[in-house]
Amino acid sequence: MMVRRFLFVLGILMATGIAAYRADQRVLPRLEPASTPHRVGTYHVHTESSHDSHTELDQLTATAHDLGLDFIVVTDHNTQLAGPVVVNGVVVLSHAELTTPFGHLVQLGATQLLEEEERRGLDILRKVRELGGVPIAAHPADPKRPWTGPVDGLGGFEIASVSASARRRGGPIFAGLLPALFAFRLNRELAFAQILDRSDAALRRWDAEYDPSVVGMCGVDSHGRILPTGLELRGWHTVIDAPLPESPEQLPAALIDAISRGRFHCVAGLFARDPEFEFRASWGGETVGVPGDTVTALAVDALVARSPRSTIDTATVVLLRNGEEVSRTQGGRLHYRHPTPGTYRVEVRLPVPGVVWGYRVLPVIYSNRIRVVEDLDDAAGGPPARIFPLGRTYPSLAIPEDEEPPAAEAPAAEPPGVSDPSETPESGQPKLETPGGGGASETVAPKPAPAEPSPVEAAPPGDTRAAPEPAPAAPAAEAPDPEASTSEPEAGSEPP
Ligand SMILES: [Zn+2]
Ligand SMILES: [Zn+2]
Repeated sequence: MMVRRFLFVLGILMATGIAAYRADQRVLPRLEPASTPHRVGTYHVHTESSHDSHTELDQLTATAHDLGLDFIVVTDHNTQLAGPVVVNGVVVLSHAELTTPFGHLVQLGATQLLEEEERRGLDILRKVRELGGVPIAAHPADPKRPWTGPVDGLGGFEIASVSASARRRGGPIFAGLLPALFAFRLNRELAFAQILDRSDAALRRWDAEYDPSVVGMCGVDSHGRILPTGLELRGWHTVIDAPLPESPEQLPAALIDAISRGRFHCVAGLFARDPEFEFRASWGGETVGVPGDTVTALAVDALVARSPRSTIDTATVVLLRNGEEVSRTQGGRLHYRHPTPGTYRVEVRLPVPGVVWGYRVLPVIYSNRIRVVEDLDDAAGGPPARIFPLGRTYPSLAIPEDEEPPAAEAPAAEPPGVSDPSETPESGQPKLETPGGGGASETVAPKPAPAEPSPVEAAPPGDTRAAPEPAPAAPAAEAPDPEASTSEPEAGSEPP
């Protein structure tokens, strides 16, 4: 018995020694910085206003400032500041992470707090929309607290979450993170990188929603309890791809607007603050669509992605269509000609060294999505099927007739292919004027929630992949059926 215990302790000591020695030798790859800098922030941060965090806002913003962050999205549990503030030169957007019977939901952009009793109903997403918010499912595939609520009307999913990945990587008692613990004193970044992973489950849920205005967020879920805040805030950066106003009064609303429309990409901040990256739809070299947009196949001759060079020169750019890989290239530029209809996104993957040996290839950049459709009537039909987690089926919401959002001009009224070319960072692009003065994805929140979600089917994920984009019988373009137009709720929110 004694011998066994001795060997166990000896083994631990040797493992610690080897891990510590190796951790000192191993370095993380770095990505080249963007030639045109973006505004960079970080999403899903807690302060002392949350019961499980002690981080003071002043300290948090000072740390964010030191990291060169322009904004932070504070998501305290069931509480938020009365409005945006600027502290230590950092814009603080404060929007509550609501505790609901279905999991955690961030009411991004909402200016009031959703009442406690209103958090319990299946119409919670519509309630958040009514407050001007965009409901974002927090850590939707977290083993401990997944999102099990309605999906129809969600504005986005957290496709990456540091806390959820720590739980997956560590296992029930976090034993899987022991090597990282050993390495922490010698190489903090290497240790922290061990927590990151790719959440196939969260990505599958996102990929099943073809509407590109359903955004993919990356949350750090910083609580400042175990890891230093400065490290936590580098878990994931939110890099804004839209032009933003300089005025501090206008900036907060513009940031929320850009995020809620998918005009951003996620970057694992350990590898770069703001690396060179772009993803766009092009026609003859001109940009005709950016993430968040729906474009027609006729208007696009290629999807273009540019990845940053890395210090180890093995960054891989992967293009996915409806969640399935369709093309990849090692470094540089990816040019995918004549994309068929589908919802496209990009991952940039890097080999991330382990503490002692080996590498894991992980996405360190996630784009948001560009949807290519046969014609814009298809887009009005919405995603073909809704997947509810855990095999649970939710009933349709019964909502009185008079609460239905008013029918409005359909997005088909705009010229083919272009949602909003003027939004791209490249200035000097000709703006294609639409008759209504705005494209389908032009409109800011509040998006009206679907009046009555289509009957829910707990379809297995494979079903939606196998039958992409069946276009439901499209109603007359002038008066879209509100029940069928849930994928383009913005169409109903702006008068022509
Ligand atoms: Zn949470
Ligand atoms: Zn949280």
